[in-house]
Amino acid sequence: MSSSTRKFRFDTLLIHGGTEAGPAGATTVPIVQSSSFSHATAEELEDIFRGRRMGQVYTRINNPTTESLERRLTLLEGGIATIATASGMAAITTAVLTIARSGDEILSSSSVFGGTFSLFRDTLANYGIAARFVDPTDLAAVRGGVTDKTRLIFVETIGNPKMDVPDIGEIAAIARQAGVPLLVDATVTTPCLARGKELGADIVLHSTSKFINGTGSAIGGAIIDLGSFNWDSAKFPHFQPFVTKYRNFAFSARARKLIHKDFGACAAPMNSFLLTEGVETLALRMERHCDNALQLARFLAVHPKVQWVNYPGLPDSPYHGVASRQFGGRFGGILTFGLADKPASFRVINALTLAKNLANIGDAKTLVIHPASTICADYGPEEKGLMGVTEEMVRVSVGIEAIDDIIEDFAEALEQA
Ligand SMILES: *Cc1c(COP(=O)(O)O)cnc(C)c1O
Repeated sequence: MSSSTRKFRFDTLLIHGGTEAGPAGATTVPIVQSSSFSHATAEELEDIFRGRRMGQVYTRINNPTTESLERRLTLLEGGIATIATASGMAAITTAVLTIARSGDEILSSSSVFGGTFSLFRDTLANYGIAARFVDPTDLAAVRGGVTDKTRLIFVETIGNPKMDVPDIGEIAAIARQAGVPLLVDATVTTPCLARGKELGADIVLHSTSKFINGTGSAIGGAIIDLGSFNWDSAKFPHFQPFVTKYRNFAFSARARKLIHKDFGACAAPMNSFLLTEGVETLALRMERHCDNALQLARFLAVHPKVQWVNYPGLPDSPYHGVASRQFGGRFGGILTFGLADKPASFRVINALTLAKNLANIGDAKTLVIHPASTICADYGPEEKGLMGVTEEMVRVSVGIEAIDDIIEDFAEALEQA
């Protein structure tokens, strides 16, 4: 039986899902490093272009290595189709532009990743798409943010770096009532902690650069269409031709045939290979990331130099209850903590020897950053407040090293605080 047809459990799908056997018995997905694909006859290529026959055309449009990754992510999320993109930002841009047009509004969590905040607030505004930002843990605010121009609601499973955890099921209910799709950026939780479909999302987004890659070796993104939203709606007249031809695949068809193709932010075959390698070990790594993050959070929470720790796994986190329910008793690999002030947090970051000071999350290695002066440096106090970024805050992406080494590194560095 081929591995793509048998009904495997999640942990097996991570390794075998959607993969066809490689040439000569190769066990890894072949890297098809070709920009275009030749066909025997003009008729065959015409059929592919007209959608009457499946086939490869050009790597900006599709590529066998990338399709293998896409099939696997579709299975992992329980979706109907995936588009792998050049980056997480490309996935978000492509998904939003597939849905919203000039004159429309999007309703977004205010505590989204900095790049997403800037895309929504500044870049898309220049193209006539206005964003309203609300605290996603304040359901009355979410409800109140919906207008007759709203075309989608956007949240992250765990806000990066605010570490807030919205109740996705409740927000999904608001989206359904408003007749708009719910887009969920699940980068921080990955399908190991929560599948967007079970939470009530319509479209799941990932920066695959992070935990899915797992070694910091490639940038990538993914849009997973869960097939749950009915696009046959007066709010989405631009979907009509796609609804007629592709029915519940209308979103992924419009994304792939228009926005993804035209904006051109395609995944590179080499990156799709690296991301497929990464996804195979995701379940094991996430277990260790979560275990290590909880232990580091407990260590920091009682350290005399540490003012506060924000990790949904700690019982005193305001998001502990909803996170416990949504993420199966695990809480992710990211935490933030506060020192006395900015100079103290710089001293601690500079004194860490194992943890690397850099702008990434989800690597096997422990990573730290001072968000206020780096990834959020362009924002004023008001935006930083919305994103939960303070001057004394340090963000840690807890790696999968031996926890005692991680704790020793922080213990020694905190002497400089
Ligand atoms: C990193 C990140 C992104 C952007 O992804 P890139 O691959 O860096 O473009 C989007 N959302 C979240 C939550 C992220 O952490």
